[in-house]
Amino acid sequence: MKTTLPGAAEKFLRYVKIDTQSDPDSSSVPTSEKELDLARLLVKELMDMGAEDVKMCKAGCVYATIPSNCDAEAPVVGFIAHMDTSPDVTGANVSPRIVENYQGGDIILNSEKGIILPSGFFKSEAQLIGQDLIVTDGTTLLGADDKAGVAEIMYMAEYLLNHPEIKHGVIKIGFTTDEEVGCCGANAFDIEGFGADFAYTVDGMGIDEYNCESFNAADATVTVHGLQVHPGDAKNRMINSITISKEFDNMIPSYETCEHSEGREGYFHLSDIDGTVSLTKMQYLIRDFDIEGFNRRKEFMRRICQYLNSVYGQGTVDVEFEDSYFSMYNSIKEKPDITEKAIKAFEACGINPKIVPIRGGTDGSILSGRGLACPNLSAGYQGEHSVCECVSVQALDTCANVLIKLAVSFAE
Ligand SMILES: [Zn+2]
Repeated sequence: MKTTLPGAAEKFLRYVKIDTQSDPDSSSVPTSEKELDLARLLVKELMDMGAEDVKMCKAGCVYATIPSNCDAEAPVVGFIAHMDTSPDVTGANVSPRIVENYQGGDIILNSEKGIILPSGFFKSEAQLIGQDLIVTDGTTLLGADDKAGVAEIMYMAEYLLNHPEIKHGVIKIGFTTDEEVGCCGANAFDIEGFGADFAYTVDGMGIDEYNCESFNAADATVTVHGLQVHPGDAKNRMINSITISKEFDNMIPSYETCEHSEGREGYFHLSDIDGTVSLTKMQYLIRDFDIEGFNRRKEFMRRICQYLNSVYGQGTVDVEFEDSYFSMYNSIKEKPDITEKAIKAFEACGINPKIVPIRGGTDGSILSGRGLACPNLSAGYQGEHSVCECVSVQALDTCANVLIKLAVSFAE
């Protein structure tokens, strides 16, 4: 391993050794106590570097301010990353290793256990050629999602505090908990106390993605009531809720499901079904980039209920919706400057950014829905939520430099 690493990589390697896996089965806030281990370290490091208003809230979110050092009228810009890692793969005892000057091909992650990172695994493999890759030992995730974002923001903060000759307005820093288990941290995030006019999450794949659109998302619970009768005596009397639930699902067009959609297409996704003759419950996810399309999908499910009730009797089928998050585009479209400055910051670092809609949600979707416009910038990682997760030393450096350029650009 190299003895001297660029600042963002050096921080990153320190943060990934702290296990911050969030827990989807916990109802405590944050969902796992160990998320606070990293939160406390970041509070200390922010104070040591001279950031102001450094604090941690009850949900474990960390906040800090880099004060303005110029007279220019500049908006208050926030940068946000999440500290927790995915429950999909363990984040305990992460043992990172650097593969220098990667030239493509398989990487042996663990020869003892025969774990290989196969060539072609990454969507943006071309970005990794010639780079020094930070990989795992094949038994854990790396945690680059989103400790890469955390390290890049910390590097930016330290760099600006150490270079007072570089002029900028007020910059706010936020680190959230529990992003991977439904954004509880973003729901608890103190937007008013944070005080930013808008913010960027730093939690995107690769080095060249800019996301200003995410799904509008809701959960739908369909309940079908049946009538249990002895099967031998059931003619014209039994109402089988399982059969009716099949009818319901058959009315969802198959080309409108997640397994048959991509890009900007939305979908219905039947994620769970549990039934007996007398009662069946189905869980659907509804996703749509367009808010009108999102509302149409809900209306479509209501109409299926109406039809089935007209056949089987009122009250047989009903559907309830619970909104999960909304597209950040709903608020970002009002402020074109947010996107223009981000594109220019990428270009200033030699990157031609791709504007990609996220087929999911981020902390930014929750925060945008709560009034803080919040698109998402690349954090450099690839293969997130798996033992094959990696980020390159150079990507950490590049993404940190994009943040510095962007933070400064609002005071120019
Ligand atoms: Zn993430």
